[in-house]
Amino acid sequence: MARVGFIGVGNMGSLMARNLVKAGHSLKVYDLNEEAVNFVVQSGAKRASSVQDAAKGVDFVVTMLPVGANVRSVFLDEGVIAAADRGTVLIDSSTIDVDSARAAHAAAAERGFAMLDAPVSGGVAGADAATLTFMCGGDKAVFSKALPLLQNMGKNIVHCGGPGFGQVTKICNNMVAAVISLATAEAFVMGEKLGVSRQTLYDVLSTSTASSTILTRMCPVPGPVPGSASSNGYKPGFMAKLMLKDLRLSQAAAQMAETATPLGAAATAAFAMHVANGFGDLDMSSIVKLIDKDA
Ligand code: NAD
Repeated sequence: MARVGFIGVGNMGSLMARNLVKAGHSLKVYDLNEEAVNFVVQSGAKRASSVQDAAKGVDFVVTMLPVGANVRSVFLDEGVIAAADRGTVLIDSSTIDVDSARAAHAAAAERGFAMLDAPVSGGVAGADAATLTFMCGGDKAVFSKALPLLQNMGKNIVHCGGPGFGQVTKICNNMVAAVISLATAEAFVMGEKLGVSRQTLYDVLSTSTASSTILTRMCPVPGPVPGSASSNGYKPGFMAKLMLKDLRLSQAAAQMAETATPLGAAATAAFAMHVANGFGDLDMSSIVKLIDKDA
């Protein structure tokens, strides 16, 4: 069993860390938010007093932070890299820009640390059930070393290539998810306005060519899927502002790749308006409120 320092135990990290505790690993957790730490400590983890404390004396450091600036700050400024013992494997599971991921990889490599960027998909349900997909970037040997640990938090663990390749893959996934969620929301509003009940729409779309994981797990309207965020006041889940962050990453990536993403661009504009309307903290499925504020 491994010693793990876990930094960032919010919606996703708390559940991932809890699964590591359940699997028998010894955990030290740190988060700026005391309440978030309490949740994991109640599951059997130890409280770390700082980023450095979490990174010291462990076999793995796992970070699950909101944005690239947080990862840069925790890795570079606040000192995961300065504090970790030689031989510690660093795994960043946040969804961040490719440049920040590669900057963290470069700083880690300079000090002789093995690192993976390993963003996830599967949401809080996947984090809870330890069924996440991990998209990993870094050396194959580092991937093999981290694999047994990642298998305690996920089911589908994929080596996507070198440093930053996990982030590229994740950004592609989320751009598609956002486009589908917007298209699904448009269909529900249009169908209901023309008199078809949301339940009928759900029953048919979910068994026809419009079906998707977005529809069957994150149905944009309350009712048809009882466990969905929409049926629970749009409590996240995956916050709309984080989806906007990922869409902006997709547009930066599209520029880097010099490729056209017209639907990705439309989804970015839609989520930006939705967040500007004050809905950023709701689950991303609340994008339906942009189409019809009363939905
Ligand atoms: P969250 O905001 O709930 O959790 C992030 C945590 O990081 C917070 O508790 C925050 O206090 C902590 N934090 C921020 N800066 C810190 C610092 N300097 N030191 C210590 N702690 C710090 O976010 P989340 O939903 O758990 O998402 C985390 C990452 O995972 C994001 O990059 C997101 O895009 C990605 N992601 C989220 C989901 C989802 O469904 N929520 C799914 C896949 C990927």
